[in-house]
Amino acid sequence: MQGSMMMRPLKIADILSYAAEIHPLSEVVSVRTEGDIHRQTYAGTARRVAKLAHGLVSQGMQTGDRVATLAWNGYRHLELYYAISGAGGVCHTINPRLSAEQMTYIVNHANDTMLFVDTTFVPLVAALRDQWPAGLKVVVMTDRDHMPEGDFLCYEELLDGQSDSFDWPDFPEDTAAGLCYTSGTTGNPKGTLYTHRSTVLHAMMVGLSLPTALQPGKRILPVVPLFHVNAWGLPYAAPLTGASLIFPGGALDGESLFRLMDNEKVYSAWGVPTVWLGLQGEITKQGRMPEGLGDMVVGGSAAPASMIQFFEEGDVNVCHAWGMTEMSPIGTQGNLPDHLNDKPMAERIAIKSKQGRRVFGVDLKIVDEDGKRLPHDGEAAGELYVRGNAITSGYFENEEANKTAFDADGWFGTGDVATIDTHGFLTITDRAKDLIKSGGEWISSLDLENTVMAHPKVANCAVIAVPHPKWDERPLMIVVPSPEGKPEVGDLMDMLKEHFATWQLPDDVVFVEDLPMTATGKVSKLTLRKQFGDHKLPDA
Ligand code: ADP
Repeated sequence: MQGSMMMRPLKIADILSYAAEIHPLSEVVSVRTEGDIHRQTYAGTARRVAKLAHGLVSQGMQTGDRVATLAWNGYRHLELYYAISGAGGVCHTINPRLSAEQMTYIVNHANDTMLFVDTTFVPLVAALRDQWPAGLKVVVMTDRDHMPEGDFLCYEELLDGQSDSFDWPDFPEDTAAGLCYTSGTTGNPKGTLYTHRSTVLHAMMVGLSLPTALQPGKRILPVVPLFHVNAWGLPYAAPLTGASLIFPGGALDGESLFRLMDNEKVYSAWGVPTVWLGLQGEITKQGRMPEGLGDMVVGGSAAPASMIQFFEEGDVNVCHAWGMTEMSPIGTQGNLPDHLNDKPMAERIAIKSKQGRRVFGVDLKIVDEDGKRLPHDGEAAGELYVRGNAITSGYFENEEANKTAFDADGWFGTGDVATIDTHGFLTITDRAKDLIKSGGEWISSLDLENTVMAHPKVANCAVIAVPHPKWDERPLMIVVPSPEGKPEVGDLMDMLKEHFATWQLPDDVVFVEDLPMTATGKVSKLTLRKQFGDHKLPDA
């Protein structure tokens, strides 16, 4: 029997309309590419978003059109999130750290009709534009005074003269709203296509799960980029709950972040461990914490226990979170339940070093090689599968990837190996996917290997992650030379430079006589990681 309640579709536009009415004075503060600090309220943001939506429609944006962004964290980027999806388009955030080749693949695969760029990325766009869809309109996110030369539209001019109210259309809640590509283990990046429903539910899940940070009067710094998995949901969860957003722009070094946090009295800061290492250095230099800092969310890579301890000893509550692009992304959060919060510091740090407990709307299971469920006893380790209300049901137009992404029951395979303890705490123990995560960004070992294998003097090659104090992991390339002799390292790097961004290149190359093999005839990365786990990289 069907219930008889209203079926109002969940819509992203309703989040900002709500914030403008209920939390009108909460702020959006941004370090701008123009060099100054910009401030506006949620009420002001809603008015500008309406103007922008009119601007998008006047440029011909149609329902379902992909409109891309290549931008830092700032108020204009936030406005695009709401205006594009609110008016029926799909906000496609592009990671500017990707190689030119990957970026070009993404823009063409998404078939973007418009692209909004910060001035920083104008030279990059100019260099690649002729490989992107013909007719792609490029809008520079600045005012007339700061516009570059060339065939570009001006963001502020799109808003000029437009009405500051917009009649947000209704559409089914499973309408596409956002698109974000993540690097695969091999081949091209894969797109996760978020819906209005998944985005609104995820915002509520995040708000419910992290209530200390997400409330009126609290000021949150998303260092996690808007171009990387919706900045972990903050652009939606903060307006929904009334917390203010403090956007850092492109300056993410410890000194700049410390200054901004201090000046803006940031209460909660969200980002990857590499960023917090930089901040840690600045805190040590200054001999104090930034004023007002009381909470931080760390994820994207495992947060080291020493980092958690450093901040906890400075009276900052550290919440270690885990998630994925395909999960919107928050899967777990590490705030301690009351009965564990009173434990001595050492015990609390040990628990906080785990990846936390699932948030509502996310189911977790660990399975053995035959797909059989393993117990949640903190001992059994297996591949982690997830299902839930804000988890992908299939990559965007990518049948090939979808064939292997899910198990027979429709659960999504994360490629992480984990244990889950009796309290529900997840611990990521290993990674089944052959990827390296450096400073929160992916490098595909397989793609590096495949590229250098084309060199006549390379008989075999394996790339593994080696622990690095700053970047968490960095690639080490292990090469078996062919009988013709050893290849020049410089030649290998030149080959790689054609396809990879500079930061994705291996830090070191070592030569060996042969590679260890598994029983099934594959290179045993496990053995290599043990063998080279202590390898000293040149700049580590
Ligand atoms: P994000 O970096 O925002 O979490 P990605 O989709 O780029 O999203 O990466 C997801 C992957 O990153 C996970 O499958 C896992 O391998 C790794 N990861 C994310 N958070 C953590 C964490 N807290 N500890 C260990 N690994 C993590």
